Amino acid sequence: MSKRKMLQFVNVAQQTPDKREAEARTHDFNEIYAEFSDDRAGDQAARCSQCGVPYCQSHCPLHNNIPDWLRLTAEGRLEEAYAMSQATNTFPEICGRICPQDRLCEGNCVIEQSGHGTVTIGAVEKYITDTAWEQGWVKPVTPEETRAESIGIIGSGPGGLAAADRLRRAGVQVTVYERHDRAGGLLTYGIPGFKLEKDVVMRRVKQLEDSGVEFVLNCNVGEDISFDAIRGKHDAVLIATGVYKSRDLKGPGAGAKGIVRALDYLTASNRVGFGDDVPEYESGTLNAAGKRVIVIGGGDTAMDCVRTAIRQGAESVKCLYRRDRANMPGSQREVQNAEEEGVEFVWLSAPKGFAGDPVESVMVQKMRLGPPDATGRQSPEVIEGADYVEPADLVIKALGFEPEDLPTLWGETALEVTRWGTIKAEFGSHETSLPGVFAVGDVVRGASLVVWAIRDGREAADSILKYLDQPAQVAAE
Ligand code: FAD
Ligand code: SF4
Ligand code: SF4
Repeated sequence: MSKRKMLQFVNVAQQTPDKREAEARTHDFNEIYAEFSDDRAGDQAARCSQCGVPYCQSHCPLHNNIPDWLRLTAEGRLEEAYAMSQATNTFPEICGRICPQDRLCEGNCVIEQSGHGTVTIGAVEKYITDTAWEQGWVKPVTPEETRAESIGIIGSGPGGLAAADRLRRAGVQVTVYERHDRAGGLLTYGIPGFKLEKDVVMRRVKQLEDSGVEFVLNCNVGEDISFDAIRGKHDAVLIATGVYKSRDLKGPGAGAKGIVRALDYLTASNRVGFGDDVPEYESGTLNAAGKRVIVIGGGDTAMDCVRTAIRQGAESVKCLYRRDRANMPGSQREVQNAEEEGVEFVWLSAPKGFAGDPVESVMVQKMRLGPPDATGRQSPEVIEGADYVEPADLVIKALGFEPEDLPTLWGETALEVTRWGTIKAEFGSHETSLPGVFAVGDVVRGASLVVWAIRDGREAADSILKYLDQPAQVAAE
């Protein structure tokens, strides 16, 4: 790749990676965006104006050194770009694929503000690290020293894995306990392959295994082994268990067959992608093929469900959301992708009840937006008399997630939680109310983002290392 001058945003138009045509991409679960070619990655990186105060960096939860790795990419110095990128981000190729960049780094790029179209930071970040994998620059961790202390990590999502990586680099023994049969958390069983192909996640898990991280799979802490036993085995413990209690639907008929939880549905689909035997998919319980599907919710989980249903061959897919397009929590990019793929969004509508068992139809209640509530968001209000019946064979509930009641499940009442049930952990140090026990990711923040879980995991690892060196001092801070 040739060496380029920077500040090319006036001469070089913004280009995103090629996107497969909707018709072609809805027949498989492969990612929809192609990789940048070497030239295009360099050209796009060279659009950066190398800001002295880079807002992209300050709005990246990991404070990635974006202008520097863009410059190195533009100069064709990719191995250095990779080294710099992975110094602050444990999984740059994953963030490059699934961060909502429009709300984070790219949404705050000055070039975007000046009307030239943001530097495509996420796509370049993905390109750098995918290239590093291809070139063999990504290696298992080989710690300079080996330490005797061991850490138990409960949960193998991005929070747990980011901590495992950083602790292993420091030479500590690391064991990750995971209740599923594969590691990766929502990266593996939640997020569909068309956003994040599974071999991208599995090669990271393998890298950690090759680095000496021990994975104890099919191990549900609280059932297969007690939390107390884990504390007894390790010098410190990190809780990274995510949030998995689905919010439920109310209204008559809400318990009918054919009304399923989003995560059960997505997990089944991801398992099929791995080649597993999935009886609920084979029986049609968790399979949209040939069905009229209604997905309820307006977040990223709902977007993943509608697009999965299209790929499974649904007869029709509608998404009901009680607010409008401008006020939905899901990413606009994903709504656009879903619309291109044939999903119909029914804004300002909510389910009032369900008929049939198995479900045959949804009574849809039309809504309007009322005055803003205390958070400034307009509240949805019912329009009396404005409801209608929508036929449905499969209804998928994607209304969000809450934490499980860990103190009760684990018989550890001294583990303090907030009134929302999330674990109370100190900002920055991630210490919980129990000495030597730390917590990160969604189980602390509530349903959040992969990039925040990575940041938490990295910070908690540093805090755990400090605790190992001076346990009393960290506890007192
Ligand atoms: P998780 O990834 O949830 O991992 C927790 C792990 O702990 C799981 O493997 C679980 O099995 C395990 N576990 C739980 N309890 C126990 C126990 N008792 N014993 C042993 N193991 C246990 N974020 C983005 O940034 N971009 C996206 O595009 C995006 N899409 C999403 C799509 C869906 C469908 C969902 C549900 C979420 C999405 N998110 C997205 C959010 C993101 O996946 C989460 O914020 C992130 O995975 C949280 O990481 P975590 O490590 O805290 O928990
Ligand atoms: Fe942007 Fe996410 Fe990468 Fe940060 S980690 S630079 S927010 S894509
Ligand atoms: Fe480059 Fe945009 Fe970041 Fe400025 S804000 S350093 S132009 S990517």
